[in-house]
Amino acid sequence: MAKGILVDYEWCSGCHTCEMACEVELTHKSFPEGHCGVKIHEEGIYPIGDDKWIDINMPIFTDLCDKCEERLNQGAAEPSCVKHCQAHVLTYGDVEDLAKELAKKPKQVLYCL
Ligand code: SF4
Ligand code: SF4
Repeated sequence: MAKGILVDYEWCSGCHTCEMACEVELTHKSFPEGHCGVKIHEEGIYPIGDDKWIDINMPIFTDLCDKCEERLNQGAAEPSCVKHCQAHVLTYGDVEDLAKELAKKPKQVLYCL
């Protein structure tokens, strides 16, 4: 069954720990400086009226992501970025199961790996 990562970006703090986890996990690869399998893109902070603000941190999985293939083949339960996200906004699993979670709330995205 296809695997994926569900991102609940409503609660992504923009801490960049997932980026560091990826760089360490794939340290044997030569990434372009400052780039790896996941990058946090930021939108905001700016006001949109009535005490509302745009403040979005969005993890983007890049083509440098190799899906933690070696790590998972060695028996790990989840990719390094997922394991090290202390806000628990990244969930790894079967795409069909994650799609059900996706339907439950807005401000989520589902990446198929
Ligand atoms: S996805 Fe998790 S680890 Fe990455 S920036 Fe957001 S909160 Fe931090
Ligand atoms: S799944 Fe693995 S390779 Fe892909 S971004 Fe996460 S840590 Fe990097």
